[in-house]
Amino acid sequence: MGLCLNLASNVFGSWHLNPEERQICERISTTGLSEWKNPDFSYISTPSSNVQQYPFLLPLVFIVYNHNGHEDSPIDEREIDFYIEQSRYAFRPCGIEVSVESIRYVQGPSFLDSLDCHPDANFVGLISEKELCLYGAVHQPDFINIYFVKKVPAGENPDGQSYALNRRAFEYARNVTLDMEQFIGSIIIVDSDRINLSVFNPNEREQVGVEVVPHEIGHIILNQGHEYGFLENLMSDTGYEITLSLTPEQCRKALDSPFVHRRYFLIEE
Ligand SMILES: [Zn+2]
Repeated sequence: MGLCLNLASNVFGSWHLNPEERQICERISTTGLSEWKNPDFSYISTPSSNVQQYPFLLPLVFIVYNHNGHEDSPIDEREIDFYIEQSRYAFRPCGIEVSVESIRYVQGPSFLDSLDCHPDANFVGLISEKELCLYGAVHQPDFINIYFVKKVPAGENPDGQSYALNRRAFEYARNVTLDMEQFIGSIIIVDSDRINLSVFNPNEREQVGVEVVPHEIGHIILNQGHEYGFLENLMSDTGYEITLSLTPEQCRKALDSPFVHRRYFLIEE
């Protein structure tokens, strides 16, 4: 499993779209993308209604782009529910309940199956034209949008890497335009970082190396990079040290995130 968990160090260029592709992008930015399947929410576990225990809510948007997943194991509701359960396991100790805002199975041009990035280590722009094309067609602003794409080939790693686009990344980038800020909160999960449920034991939630979804969510709501050193933490920099644990300070940071909302009691009279 190529678990490259970079903080939006996506050093992408904008040179990957040809004129024909640009035209397609312009079209889908107004028409949106068609959905080839409706999600079956009966597989998705409902959030806890215990507002006292979980006074905060983190709603997620899942976007499955164009493909059936590795070895033709489809990205189905069961897999998505697993990521939700994992994320609950990580964030519930902070008082945050995770919920699903929407799940969308969309189909679009195949040139977006691979969000190519450039191995150049210098930032030339924060978001590539390919990303803008994808986000522009489906993104739901003000939510964390989790995109499942085939791959992001990056330098020496043929499988590429999953990554998250947080506000902090903007501080380090050049050539950023304001309209890109609406896409803060985007998470790209590549096929090779997905969980193969057929070999995964759901009872071992902290199994090594498969916490990529809650880890990337952590980049967004903690607005941070990695915790370095040999520690077992959700935001650890190396795959085998990543667990679903957060420190009390990280919890405090998470509650300040604009993606985390206070829940309100329903007062019945
Ligand atoms: Zn990371």
